[in-house]
Amino acid sequence: MSAPTLPTYADVEAAAQVLDRVAHRTPVLRSRRLDALAGCELHLKAEHLQRVGAFKFRGAYTALSAFDGEQRRGGVVAFSSGNHAQAVALAAREIGMPAVIVMPHDAPEQKVAATLGYGAEVVRYDRYTEDRPAVAAALATERGMTLVPPFDHPKVIAGQGTAVKELVEDAGPPDVLVVPLGGGGLLSGSILSARALAPDARIYGVEPAAGDDARRSLQEGRIVQIQTPRTIADGAQTTSLGELTFPIVRDGVEAVLTATDEELVGAMRVMASTLKQVVEPTGVLGLAAVLSGAVPELTGRRVGVVLSGGNVDLDRFAALVGGQ
Ligand SMILES: *Cc1c(COP(=O)(O)O)cnc(C)c1O
Repeated sequence: MSAPTLPTYADVEAAAQVLDRVAHRTPVLRSRRLDALAGCELHLKAEHLQRVGAFKFRGAYTALSAFDGEQRRGGVVAFSSGNHAQAVALAAREIGMPAVIVMPHDAPEQKVAATLGYGAEVVRYDRYTEDRPAVAAALATERGMTLVPPFDHPKVIAGQGTAVKELVEDAGPPDVLVVPLGGGGLLSGSILSARALAPDARIYGVEPAAGDDARRSLQEGRIVQIQTPRTIADGAQTTSLGELTFPIVRDGVEAVLTATDEELVGAMRVMASTLKQVVEPTGVLGLAAVLSGAVPELTGRRVGVVLSGGNVDLDRFAALVGGQ
């Protein structure tokens, strides 16, 4: 098999043009209390304040806007546990094409409702027994639609990379960059931007402790596949890195770290109490690793952290952060 062509920083720059005035340029949040707690200078890229409540809008819109006329008429199929679905649904509506989203039966209701609200059709499947990519691929063939995967796609990776591009442009180059990690689209795009704009930055991906496939993939030098991990980080319940994201992550990170569900809850509480922000469990993966001490040599450093999303039902949020 020939090696896939990997996206570059030039693709991130092109995506930034496409997203100009379409995606929000989200703020970079600072907190003295949080800095004191972490022992470093934290610059938090607030992608929970992005359109659809997560960075995923960047990649989805970038990918859909590259469709040709025939693809636009056929429309888009996506499979997602939530944020990619909402992102594709909104991007499809804005560009003016039909969208079908394949979602697990146990996807958070807020995410399903939001996807329907953006005008997409939702097809359900069982994430513990059925093969999601296969379900989506069959639909694409049946209906003549184009599949846009959630992370292993050059335009998606390029679009996600615009978040860290903005972070470095707005806050200056960090010494350390910490990024949530599922299938690696966000981390890969972040690596492309950091290499170009902050070449000295040490980069860490953080995945749920219950699903440490990426860490094992780097150890073993191949893409390790796992069962769907059971974790509150529903945006990172991925089972493996992709053909594109694996080599970029392998060559771009210092290490892949993990955070437990308990650490995620702790970081959500800290975000709510210091900065008054609602961030979803997956969204605080990076911050949780900073606060737990998992990220090496942070003291006194400038640390960029991506807060990747904020889509969590308020009842679930309250149940997670309350009662302690
Ligand atoms: C999808 C998602 C991630 C993981 O992104 P990948 O590109 O799959 O690594 C992290 N956080 C949130 C909020 C997400 O929706």
